[in-house]
Amino acid sequence: MNVQKLSLGTTQSAQITALDNLTIPSLILSRNGLLCYGNKAARQLLSGVSISDTAISNTVISNTLTGQELLQRLSPQQGKELQAACSLFTEQQLSLTFFYNDEPYGEKQRSIQLSLSPLIIENSDEKPLLATLKDTTQYNAAQHLPDHLYQAIQQTEDMVMVTDNQGCIEYVNPAFIHQTGYSEADVLGQNPRVLSSDEHDDAFYSEMWATLNAGDSYRNVFINCRRDGSRFHEEKTITPVCDEFGQVSHFVATGRDITDLINSEQHLNYLRRFDSLTGLPNRQRLSEHFELHVTQRRKTSLALFLIDLDRLSRINDSLGRLAGDELLRMTASRLRKALPSYVVGRLGSDAFMVLAEEIQTPEQAAHLAQKIQQIMALPFELTQAELFMSASLGITLYPYDGDQFDELVNKADSAMHRSKDNDQGFGFFTEDLTLQTQNRVRLENQLRQALLHKEFHLVFQPKVNLANGKIESAEVLLRWVRSNGKNISPAEFIPVLEEMGLITSVGEWVLMRACCYASQWLKKGHRISISVNLSARQLKQPNLLTIVQRCLDSSGLPAELLELELTETSMLENVEHSIAQLTRLREKGVRIAIDDFGTGYSSLAYLKKLPTDTLKIDRAFIQELEGQDQTDLNIVHTIIQLAHNLKLSVVAEGIETQRQLDIIKQLGCNEAQGFLLAKPMNEIELLNTKKHFEPKLFALGQ
Ligand code: C2E
Ligand code: MG
Ligand code: MG
Repeated sequence: MNVQKLSLGTTQSAQITALDNLTIPSLILSRNGLLCYGNKAARQLLSGVSISDTAISNTVISNTLTGQELLQRLSPQQGKELQAACSLFTEQQLSLTFFYNDEPYGEKQRSIQLSLSPLIIENSDEKPLLATLKDTTQYNAAQHLPDHLYQAIQQTEDMVMVTDNQGCIEYVNPAFIHQTGYSEADVLGQNPRVLSSDEHDDAFYSEMWATLNAGDSYRNVFINCRRDGSRFHEEKTITPVCDEFGQVSHFVATGRDITDLINSEQHLNYLRRFDSLTGLPNRQRLSEHFELHVTQRRKTSLALFLIDLDRLSRINDSLGRLAGDELLRMTASRLRKALPSYVVGRLGSDAFMVLAEEIQTPEQAAHLAQKIQQIMALPFELTQAELFMSASLGITLYPYDGDQFDELVNKADSAMHRSKDNDQGFGFFTEDLTLQTQNRVRLENQLRQALLHKEFHLVFQPKVNLANGKIESAEVLLRWVRSNGKNISPAEFIPVLEEMGLITSVGEWVLMRACCYASQWLKKGHRISISVNLSARQLKQPNLLTIVQRCLDSSGLPAELLELELTETSMLENVEHSIAQLTRLREKGVRIAIDDFGTGYSSLAYLKKLPTDTLKIDRAFIQELEGQDQTDLNIVHTIIQLAHNLKLSVVAEGIETQRQLDIIKQLGCNEAQGFLLAKPMNEIELLNTKKHFEPKLFALGQ
């Protein structure tokens, strides 16, 4: 090696000395591939001298290779490759084979991996390259195996890879190169990680290493990546190999590409679990979904809907099987589109199945059944004709009706057959549920009609002020008279309106109407304050204050003539929010009453906190007042005293007898309401009753 050939200038001599002392074999090459400089480690490597061989002097080594000589030690092809790489002046890696004649060292050739990187030299136009070398001859260790073994490994169709105990690849066979697309140069010295597809998680590799570290072979299917990025499934066995001291020195991996096999298995699996006509999960797959739900979600409810197409066989007979198939495919895609969050499958012939998680109550199941019916009721436009279909549904609920898939399907089937006789077209396995939901669904539909046809009106139940025996206020009660004249109790329909989410709009209507009535009475000289019931949902409405204000403004009713009745239960659902809402209402001058006191939590502690004006003792306590037991009397007495201490006015509701009235008068109750005094009545009756009311009968001290 001829250092003076380097035109690096004397200022670099210090750096050259430093480079010379580096243990990484390094060369400086000119842009046309000529050797300008090689450090000591490089000279040793290229001369085939072992670094530890101190008998060899630097002079001997430095004289072995010069300029052109590097190229001459390569085959003409590799020489051209090196020159081309140098002229590009970019970072590159080359795998080169050097030839030797030096007999003392026995080798005829060495495999060297050469990494090129540009070298910038200050104040110089030359752009040489730095080349670091890595002797990869040892990686071809397998070549030193007895010839027949080596040939076997070279020729086998299985991929073979040998790594050292650090996981550094030392050998790959031609099958590996052929199947992965990687060359030796790409992978020798690298970690097998180069093949990774990122499909496996940490747990996968932890298990692999735990097995290998225990000295055992590890066998699994790896999803790897070829050089071109395509994935393949490799069934691989990795075996640790020990040296003569019993230490693991290498790992030998043999593998087979089983991608085709996997694909065909997946296809078979698919065929086994999916319906070929519609592509929907079949009974087998549905049962797997069910089992998964049971193991993962345990006792969380699940509803099974068996959907039977009415008249499919007639369509097959009249329009032909192809039309029948078309109809089934359309049904499948319709159901799948309309119910994306549920599992839709086909049980066979004309039966479909929907597995629905998140269904908590029979009412929710009934709603989904209705939805399915609506989807099925839309016309089907077949190639040959437009058809109208209907479906019968049988519903079972897990775990209520059973915990085995087959059992639940059979029960859904019998529920479906029974449902063909009822007018709503669906039924539960448990007949009570069918009846219950039938009534409920009917009521909901009727309520929707009621809203449309304005079947609601208000009545007023007077309240008597016990201090003077006069009617000064009335509770507003909602009434629903159906078109057939039937009166339905608010206790029955208010909770349904709540669940349907309609109570807020109905409630707003009640409030507006009530304010208008009271305002008109006032204009006619009848000062009657009104108490309007508010449901829990209304209290939760963020715009409740605005609604109340709007009703007062547009009716012209003074706020102090409006009282809002709320149950304790609804107030305590979200105490902080209730307190905030009620405080603001009271600031407007609206009064607040606690309705049905004693039936809810009866939390006396909260009585103080809740911003209220009036307490209405529930009818249940009043009924018990006449009994022998003094306890109820004591309770009512205590409630009244407590309320008065808190400066609340007390109303006793549900007074039906004179005795009850006498007792609550004695106990100091402020107002009374009940059938004894007056039943709920219409506007005209209210004004008449007020006019002709005999105060003496009810005033205190009478
Ligand atoms: P509530 O607010 O406790 O109303 C009093 C209920 O007791 C009324 O029943 C009334 O007719 C009844 N009542 C009054 N005096 C007597 C009596 O001496 N004996 C008996 N046995 N009953 C008596 P109604 O009108 O059936 O209302 C029932 C419930 O429906 C009300 O209880 C209230 O919670 C709810 N409600 C009524 N109208 C509305 C409304 O407009 N909005 C809301 N959210 N709920 C309402
Ligand atoms: Mg009330
Ligand atoms: Mg009440």
